[in-house]
Amino acid sequence: MAASSILFPANSVTGTRSWGKSGFLFSGRRRSVAQAVRKAPGSVSVRSALDSLEANVSDMSVNAPKGLFPPEPEHYRGPKLKVAIIGAGLAGMSTAVELLDQGHEVDIYDSRSFIGGKVGSFVDRKGNHIEMGLHVFFGCYNNLFRLMKKVGADKNLLVKDHTHTFVNKGGELGELDFRFPVGAPLHGINAFLTTNQLKTYDKARNAVALALSPVVRALVDPDGAMRDIRNLDSHSDLPSLQISFSDWFISKGGTRTSIQRMWDPVAYALGFIDCDNMSARCMLTIFSLFATKTEASLLRMLKGSPDIFLSGPIRKYIEDRGGRFHLRWGCRQVLYETSPDGETYVTGLAVSRATNKETIKADAYVAACDVPGIKKLLPKEWRESKFFDNIYELVGVPVVTVQLRYNGWVTELQDLERSRQLRRAAGLDNLLYTPDADFSCFADLALTSPEDYYIEGQGSLLQCVLTPGDPYMPLTNDKIIERVKKQVLSLFPSSQGLEVTWSSVVKIGQSLYREGPGKDPFRPDQKTPVKNFFLAGSYTKQDYIDSMEGATLSGRQASAFICQAGEELVALKKKIAAIDESQGSSNSASVPDELSLV
Ligand SMILES: Cc1cc2nc3c(=O)[nH]c(=O)nc-3n(C[C@H](O)[C@H](O)[C@H](O)COP(=O)(O)OP(=O)(O)OC[C@H]3O[C@@H](n4cnc5c(N)ncnc54)[C@H](O)[C@@H]3O)c2cc1C
Repeated sequence: MAASSILFPANSVTGTRSWGKSGFLFSGRRRSVAQAVRKAPGSVSVRSALDSLEANVSDMSVNAPKGLFPPEPEHYRGPKLKVAIIGAGLAGMSTAVELLDQGHEVDIYDSRSFIGGKVGSFVDRKGNHIEMGLHVFFGCYNNLFRLMKKVGADKNLLVKDHTHTFVNKGGELGELDFRFPVGAPLHGINAFLTTNQLKTYDKARNAVALALSPVVRALVDPDGAMRDIRNLDSHSDLPSLQISFSDWFISKGGTRTSIQRMWDPVAYALGFIDCDNMSARCMLTIFSLFATKTEASLLRMLKGSPDIFLSGPIRKYIEDRGGRFHLRWGCRQVLYETSPDGETYVTGLAVSRATNKETIKADAYVAACDVPGIKKLLPKEWRESKFFDNIYELVGVPVVTVQLRYNGWVTELQDLERSRQLRRAAGLDNLLYTPDADFSCFADLALTSPEDYYIEGQGSLLQCVLTPGDPYMPLTNDKIIERVKKQVLSLFPSSQGLEVTWSSVVKIGQSLYREGPGKDPFRPDQKTPVKNFFLAGSYTKQDYIDSMEGATLSGRQASAFICQAGEELVALKKKIAAIDESQGSSNSASVPDELSLV
């Protein structure tokens, strides 16, 4: 069996790598496999309207919280700025796109050899696309869809059936089925009341909890609801007011069984931690969107690999507008000074590639790093400021992603013969959750993202996200693969006899920030106390969770702050030049006319 593996310790790259169709509330019984695999008759009409993002992401922006759906920025009329961005993840690239659109000049530096950060992917020597992790796009990704449309990548998404599928031990399927002729909030109420993933009692208690949630306020006052949700997580110093989703849910009447069978897999998929450890804010942010927006819960996946279908078009857009990528150039140090009047400002960035070292100078600097990256980068002395010190309260969650290629179709539960042939892809074409394995969510990429992952003559390519990743981090790849294979078999007994022909393991030591109760107040704004130094990144303050959407939104926010500060940044540049002159030195604080590697 061929295998490849890659280990990402912290931020560096090393390593080798249904409104019940019956109409009865509370009538859900776990459906037989054959019933569940069949598509709902109503699904076609809902889908066809959504097949393209041309539809302007439908009702998403109507009566929506402004923080998540910011208006288009005004045309920038200030001085042109040279901006250096550290990090070519989605946050860094989103910042770059926004700045270029406003006429600025942009250079992006990343220590890795590929762009995209956690949503990056690369091709190994045998032509396999290795992804950092399984990525799904919720319908509420307004900012990311806007970015994809800008760069011409909006057609690169495949819309899945509007249902969330749970695979239980033995191949029993449960569903949260949003396919319904009427939109939000009725489609969501129906999905929760008729789900066959929960028993009647748990469903009833579930419904009570959700009815008592800020989600209801979101229907009439989305901004007020978003404030209520944020407030659930606003007390970093009062442990009694730091509310986990489990605490919140159970206090409102929800049951432990609901958490175990439905909410934990969802929480793991969203933040790689369970409901006991995840803040209520995080889960309720998503629920309020699911409840109020018809498409928020509709999943899309890329046609193929992120490098070709997501990062590639963004890169092209940036380069076509004069932006430059400097890959394998890691930023080692933020150089700064403090002026006689006590103002701290950045004078440059020390970057290196292998043994080459350079100093970068710009009018504004953006650190669009991940959590471990930003902690390493900030000058120690800056921790005297609470703003920067708070960042050290955030920690990244380990996660392990495993890809398994089979010589048959693992998720094809209806027809044994079809699962054994290799002429045509067969099985479940959607994101799949499970409460019964160490991986909380998974998908058969050969079905969901066929352009790069369906290979003639080969079968399923399962991509499984192991959460929590901690116990798997010290294990060898062979052990990890062995364990995952066994668990796949227990979910799909019909796959007995199919063989794994290729596998890969990607370990990320610190991925998303741990969205635990009380952590939200520690997230920094994109604007910092250092006037010419800005932050972006999914962990920074933005109204969504740590995700592709959050990263994109943070980039929009960073760009807006930079544009707002345009005149001030030019004044600072003059001030720095004057200080240099008075000191009679060609001090590192001077900003040359051209942003360049000096
Ligand atoms: C396994 C997995 C599955 C996921 N699934 C989903 C999903 O289904 N849906 C979803 O919305 N989100 C998902 N996410 C989350 C999503 O990938 C991230 O939230 C998002 O990509 C973060 O983007 P970012 O730009 O903020 O950070 P990153 O992508 O981490 O980018 C930061 C970049 O900064 C670079 N960097 C750091 N320090 C330095 C330095 N000193 N010098 C130079 N470069 C530096 C890094 O190399 C990196 O490229 C998933 C994440 C993982 C790990």
